[in-house]
Amino acid sequence: MSHSEKAAIFNKNEAKVNWHDKALWYVREKRDNAAHNVKGWEYLRDTASKIKGNVLSNLDNYLIEFEANAQKNGIKVHWASTAEEHNAIVYKILEGSNAKKVVKSKSMLTEECHLNPYLQNRGIEVVDTDLGEYIVQIAKETPSHIVLPAIHKTKEEVDELFQEHLGTKPSNGNPEYLTNEARKHLRNKFLQADVAITGVNFAIAETGGFVVCTNEGNADMGAHLAPVHIACMGIEKIIPKEEHLGVFLRLLARSATGQPITTYSSHFNKPAEGKELHIVIVDNGRTEQLSREDFRSSLHCIRCGACMNTCPIYRRSGGHSYNATIPGPIGSILSPGKDLTKYSSLPFASTLCGSCSNVCPVKINIHEQLYKWRQLIVKDVKQPFVKLTILKMVGKVLGNRVLYNLGGKSARFILKFAPRFIVYSKLNSWGKARELPKIKNENFDTWYQINRKK
Ligand code: SF4
Repeated sequence: MSHSEKAAIFNKNEAKVNWHDKALWYVREKRDNAAHNVKGWEYLRDTASKIKGNVLSNLDNYLIEFEANAQKNGIKVHWASTAEEHNAIVYKILEGSNAKKVVKSKSMLTEECHLNPYLQNRGIEVVDTDLGEYIVQIAKETPSHIVLPAIHKTKEEVDELFQEHLGTKPSNGNPEYLTNEARKHLRNKFLQADVAITGVNFAIAETGGFVVCTNEGNADMGAHLAPVHIACMGIEKIIPKEEHLGVFLRLLARSATGQPITTYSSHFNKPAEGKELHIVIVDNGRTEQLSREDFRSSLHCIRCGACMNTCPIYRRSGGHSYNATIPGPIGSILSPGKDLTKYSSLPFASTLCGSCSNVCPVKINIHEQLYKWRQLIVKDVKQPFVKLTILKMVGKVLGNRVLYNLGGKSARFILKFAPRFIVYSKLNSWGKARELPKIKNENFDTWYQINRKK
């Protein structure tokens, strides 16, 4: 299904759409307050963008430097060119440790590689320990947002889910009670885990160490309790030096949730005594994206989610309508690079208002890239017959003054005098959720002629 078809399903529940919209706008406002309280915010964004630009231009060197330093620290480094390779490497490490139980903290890369089903099909128990991820895991869904994975669920829905899966008492959606119940349940999973899998927010070439940011401390809990820690990272997560962390950590939390800093920004540099630490470095289409001049800066992304929170389309269509691991504006410029036909509707799921680019902490020109994908898609992907025909007709009318004036006159007449069921028929998408403005007698041209003389 296309984005608009999936969005239509989400839009059937109007109350939920309104609530989803407001909840995300609240996060956007928190982001604004946090950003405005930092002197030199724009300078920070500029610096972050330049550091990422430098990283992408020297990626091979930084990755090799990172590998050498990580190995010096006793970390085992693995390379995967595809999602399948990544999954096979992780499974091999689990087999080598005789592991049957895994706790996992939030990692969009492992979502992208579909690691959970891969391991579960091989008899491994995988438990997502981020509360939002845990909720979507037991609901057998995918995250609908990269920072707030269960934002599409109301607390009452979570209440019902927990009653069914954890045997909790009805609490009328009491968040404190529900969080405590999840905490009790997850604590046992942490204690029993053979291996902890985490993502990586920043990998530092200079030191060979990496940083994982969470608000719940679940990555630390998993990594510190289990004898084996596997960290999975995309090749673009590299930053050159430790001093650059200050730039990104200040931007990340403020852009994501409006916090001054993520509650836990944990540094991993070497395995603890008697334990194993592995890093799997994954390409999976990233070098291809790097080679596309117009789209390479999409790899600057630090996964803060700010572009989703501000996007009027995302807020009103929900993350699942994108049918991609990364939804929203950034997902709409990353996904077509993976499969142009499958994701061809995504770059059109935008008003091109540019709000995403304005809030992006690493200054990705998201709306311009959306527009560029559109131009490629109309050339390379067969467009629906109705859309093509209508656009051809519109092109003809807009290119001919007489036709344009005639069309305008007829439309004004129909909108004014036709019965409501015709004006608000299925063809009128605009009128589905709102009243049309009062129809004037004349068009702008006539109005201008009269008023100009005045
Ligand atoms: S594109 Fe920018 S705003 Fe969107 S998630 Fe990535 S870093 Fe954040």
